[in-house]
Amino acid sequence: MKIIMLGAPGAGKGTQAKKIADKYQIPHVSTGDIFRANIKNGTELGKKAKTYMDAGQLVPDELTVDLLMDRISQADCANGYVLDGFPRTIPQAECLEKALSGRNDAVDFAINVEVPDENIVARMSGRRACPACGATYHIVHIPTKVEGICDRCGGELALRDDDKPETVKNRLSVYHTQTKPLIQFYGDKKVLHEVDGTQEMEKVFADIVKVLGE
Ligand code: ADP
Ligand code: AMP
Repeated sequence: MKIIMLGAPGAGKGTQAKKIADKYQIPHVSTGDIFRANIKNGTELGKKAKTYMDAGQLVPDELTVDLLMDRISQADCANGYVLDGFPRTIPQAECLEKALSGRNDAVDFAINVEVPDENIVARMSGRRACPACGATYHIVHIPTKVEGICDRCGGELALRDDDKPETVKNRLSVYHTQTKPLIQFYGDKKVLHEVDGTQEMEKVFADIVKVLGE
């Protein structure tokens, strides 16, 4: 099962992708997480990616596409994966399509988690992530049991550098111009499914399971 998560930054793609990965036993592949791991480890790629990420811009396709192709060619992706944050541009989607069609393969589901812009800033300013294990919470909607501490691993939660309101505005505008056209792209391929991302997290997931099957 090859699944793509679409939606604005902060719509809940990562939250739902983790739940999909758990239920269907496929890897959750997030280009944002891969870049953040590179930043944390001080790699050359991380240094390059950080300048774009901090400005709320997309990392150029030259740095992103090969990285993703490499990841999905690893053994654990043989039975499928859920992509979160990739593709983000039409050229990225075309590269993915080309790579898959070379193996007589294609994306099975593109799930668009629909959340209006006016909800996004609140979602992102309340987002807290665990740098150790990658779990994500929200201070109001999805709180941890102990404030500031990850339920899963006990790590100390942090705000993402790019979740500041000024950067969020840039990311939203980049989303509308460069990423939103993917909704039409996957609609044309007849694999697009829309879910209402403003609902409570478990309800969003239940709607996704209706699409993917039990
Ligand atoms: P994305 O991966 O699309 O950028 P996240 O999954 O990180 O978004 O979610 C953004 C923020 O919104 C996080 O703080 C997350 O805990 C919270 N969130 C996710 N889903 C919901 C939901 N259904 N209702 C309320 N808050 C949510
Ligand atoms: P995310 O964790 O998906 O919100 O991504 C955080 C940031 O990483 C984005 O704002 C981009 O700067 C960068 N990024 C992640 N995925 C991609 C991608 N597929 N193409 C370009 N930039 C990306």
